[in-house]
Amino acid sequence: MVKIVVIGSSSMDLVVTSDKRPGAGETVLGSSFKTVPGGKGANQAVAAARLGADVFMIGCVGDDHYGAAIVENFKQNGVDATNVEPVTDAESGTAHIILAEGDNSIVVVKGANDHVTPHYVKKSLTLIKQADMVLIQQEIPEETIEYVSEICTEHNVSLLLNPAPARPLSQNVIAKASYITPNEHEAAVLFDGLSTEEALKQYPNKVFITEGKDGVRYHDGEKEVLVPSYPVEAVDTTGAGDTFNAALAVALAEGNSISDSLRFANRAASLSVTKFGAQGGMPLREEVEETL
Ligand code: ADP
Repeated sequence: MVKIVVIGSSSMDLVVTSDKRPGAGETVLGSSFKTVPGGKGANQAVAAARLGADVFMIGCVGDDHYGAAIVENFKQNGVDATNVEPVTDAESGTAHIILAEGDNSIVVVKGANDHVTPHYVKKSLTLIKQADMVLIQQEIPEETIEYVSEICTEHNVSLLLNPAPARPLSQNVIAKASYITPNEHEAAVLFDGLSTEEALKQYPNKVFITEGKDGVRYHDGEKEVLVPSYPVEAVDTTGAGDTFNAALAVALAEGNSISDSLRFANRAASLSVTKFGAQGGMPLREEVEETL
């Protein structure tokens, strides 16, 4: 089993459905409420564990009910949460989601995720040094991403950076990450001033731009390549990117070629959109292999 270390966010999503979205000062009646574990870091950790990796999460939760539920969810999915610490001076991260009128509105409160600082991550340096792949996203402080890119380079550990949500990155981080996986919107922010074609050509076999149902595009050193995704009946595309990144990390860590790894990631992500919920749709290893 390959060892994947995820350094990132975890949160509880509080989801209400309503026929009508309330305007300013308005109260409306909702029809349902549920809580679901989320956060890009947690989602990617759970997806990687379902795909058969030995997964270790490094993150922070609040010392509260949601924090306990987030940790319990890691355990139920076989993710090692020894390095997920409850902090006393912040609430667990939460996302407040209203599903109404065929669309969603979301307020994110980062809470404890802001405590995933370089100082905090450093406590798990021994674990990080043993990783076959470190997987990181951008729902934690920017200086932590900078720090992780430094230590991974220093200790020769592969780093897959999923630059989501969109935010500009320093040239230093771009240079130090082994792989970078923006979607089209994130790529536009990251490579401001460059066309997709130019950005891919500049970073062959390193930058993989995901294009939803079309799949993923990269440059193989000689030419630009589109690896198509698989046609599926899409029910809920939430978390497609998270499954994609986890699957890519697992496949690359296992030593597969880039093109085979991208095919595996497309297959896993395409299966994930056939079911509701980010984590709800994440496939098991067997399901991906049966249909590859
Ligand atoms: P994000 O979810 O981060 O915005 P994308 O929408 O680009 O990212 O999706 C990530 C990956 O998920 C794609 O590269 C593809 O493999 C898969 N995917 C997303 N939507 C679909 C779909 N409707 N059908 C098949 N595969 C999909």
